[in-house]
Amino acid sequence: MIAAFKNLGGIRSLIIAWTLLALLSAALYVQHSVRIVERVAALEVEALYQKLYAYRHWNARIGGIYVPVTAETPPNPYLTEVTDRDVVTPSGKQLTLMNPAYMLRHILQATAGLANSRGSLTSLKPVNPANAPDPWERQALLEFEQGAGEVLAVRTLEGEDYLSLMRPLKIEEPCLKCHAGQGYRLGDVRGGLSASVALAPLRTAGNSRLLLVLCGHLLVWGAGCRLIQRYTGYFKSHISRSQKLKEALNRASNFDKLTGLPNQLQFTDRLRWAISQAERRKELLGVLCLDLDHFKKINSAFGHGGGNLVLTEVARRLAGCLRQSDIVARLGGDSFTILMLNPGKVEDSAGLAGKIQTAINQPFLIGEHEVYLTASIGIACYPMDGTDPETILKHADTALQRAKHAGRDAYQIYSPAMNLQAIERLHLENDLRKAMQKEEFVLYYQPQVDAGTGRVTGAEALLRWQHPQRGLVGPQEFIAVAEETGLIVPLGEWVIRAACRQIRHWLDEGVQPVRIAVNLSPRQFQQLDLAQTIEKILAETGIAAGYLGLEITESAIMHDTDKAVAVLSGLRRQGVHISIDDFGTGYSSLSQLKILPIDVLKIDRSFVKDLPDNTDSISIINAIIALARSLNLKVLAEGAETEPQYHLLRELRCNEVQGYLFSRPITATAFRRQFIAGDPASPPPDSRTPPRGCG
Ligand code: C2E
Ligand code: MG
Ligand code: MG
Repeated sequence: MIAAFKNLGGIRSLIIAWTLLALLSAALYVQHSVRIVERVAALEVEALYQKLYAYRHWNARIGGIYVPVTAETPPNPYLTEVTDRDVVTPSGKQLTLMNPAYMLRHILQATAGLANSRGSLTSLKPVNPANAPDPWERQALLEFEQGAGEVLAVRTLEGEDYLSLMRPLKIEEPCLKCHAGQGYRLGDVRGGLSASVALAPLRTAGNSRLLLVLCGHLLVWGAGCRLIQRYTGYFKSHISRSQKLKEALNRASNFDKLTGLPNQLQFTDRLRWAISQAERRKELLGVLCLDLDHFKKINSAFGHGGGNLVLTEVARRLAGCLRQSDIVARLGGDSFTILMLNPGKVEDSAGLAGKIQTAINQPFLIGEHEVYLTASIGIACYPMDGTDPETILKHADTALQRAKHAGRDAYQIYSPAMNLQAIERLHLENDLRKAMQKEEFVLYYQPQVDAGTGRVTGAEALLRWQHPQRGLVGPQEFIAVAEETGLIVPLGEWVIRAACRQIRHWLDEGVQPVRIAVNLSPRQFQQLDLAQTIEKILAETGIAAGYLGLEITESAIMHDTDKAVAVLSGLRRQGVHISIDDFGTGYSSLSQLKILPIDVLKIDRSFVKDLPDNTDSISIINAIIALARSLNLKVLAEGAETEPQYHLLRELRCNEVQGYLFSRPITATAFRRQFIAGDPASPPPDSRTPPRGCG
């Protein structure tokens, strides 16, 4: 219906159509009305004729009547030859013969004009000149002589229109009495009888009816126009409402509500269209997938309102980096995609990525706060990296993941090798899950040595995966994946439990164990129940907290210092020993270090490996040691492989040393044999709560 309305071209077309319909109906009715007048006139004239003919026939049959001779009815001068024209009654009254024609003429004269009708009796050879025809009657009489049966026509008599019907009168037996003398024989056309009815009254009646009906038409037409106006108004508002609804639905299903940018669905559609165009024109397309780095931090610090502000501003900045023809879409969260039409060469897409990064690096204002963000970007191009939207987007995403792994705040251009790595990574993730169930993990221990005495004071527990096919797999190959997938949480718990059980085992064997330090991943550190989990494991294995050490990297702590202080204080209160691992590689500030409840700074291996010759490394180690002293912390240097390194570290007054020089990480059995066998049981160094039976 709506479509039909549109096709008509709206209200105007409808009114024109309705008017034409009304005019057509009126015209048909006018025509019909004229026909009705004609039909009624024809019926009336026929009736009149029949009446006149009946008189005439009756007259002719009786041959005439005798009437008293008066001034009005004098003896007929044309019947002088009729013997009985005049008779006298026995009472002396004079009667004269009134022949049929005479009688009829009398009647006609007497009734002429009455009931708007006329009649006449005429002949081409009239006995009485009064019966002479007028020109129309003459013509009709001539036609009768040619064999015509009747003549019907509208003619004007004394200025008025009449419908006249005229039929021939033929000689019948009684007629011969008067007309035999004229040479007529039976059946000859002797004359004609005509009847006429005035049309004016019929027309007047017809016209007033016509007027009534036309008024009715006018009313119906007017009402129709009103209805059209009202309903087209309704249709219009209905159409605009449904149009609006359609647009709203379209927006909801194709555009992102927050930024107003196209969403994934719309982007994929446009990409598909762009691919078809690029295929025809033999052009390139660049697709960039962008993720904001650590965006969650914004949400947790400033709430969703702050996050939304940033996202809207990012959308604005992205749009500002693009050409008119390029498209930017928001896929959800902090993910955006960009379609660069006809970049010319792949490097142009990389150029755009750089431009975008610079734009994102500018500070964002949330209220009074300035916030700094970085973005990771993956780039894939048509046709090299895919010929359909799904493949191109998948590859751009693979490149994005690669950019994130490379340390974020970077862009990566997709290469097929990435795909292989992505598949391998997926396999690794699956294998890791199975390895957890099959208990394929094992802990190796590396001794930590007192730099002054050379005694083993502790050990670092390092995770290994005993892979059924690949043999012993080092943590560098799987820790990052475990961290990303969240598997590190149960795996890390297993490590703590395994280390504590090992201590329990040594204690049960009656030997003096050393403190074992386990590595805590950043994700593990963020677990709300970390302190409780550790407490539970300590209770479960029945060992003193002083036997357990935790190694946490700078970045894990500095991410949220307040929270770190709370968690570490809880753990340290229990007696757990805390070390900052890989110290020197992160960005801890002095003020943060000051408030952290920690025991040891572990100098990263990268500074030790260039000893004893690299003066820069010496200066850094010196500075770290001085810093630790001022904060009343101990210093442990990792990665000592040579005697000169060890000696120098000792000279620099490093407290403890760990490295291949003393031992590589080894199994628990080997560790016990080499480093703790035979030692009498005694409390762990600087234990705040001495373990059971160690006191
Ligand atoms: P890390 O905590 O800094 O551990 C020290 C790493 O340095 C160990 O590598 C150790 O084998 C190696 N190392 C020690 N001395 C020397 C040396 O003299 N020369 C050389 N070249 N290397 C030395 P590993 O066992 O491969 O562990 C690597 C990293 O994996 C660890 O670094 C730690 O960050 C992580 N890791 C290991 N086990 C665990 C675990 O159970 N949980 C978590 N979250 N991370 C773990
Ligand atoms: Mg460590
Ligand atoms: Mg380390």
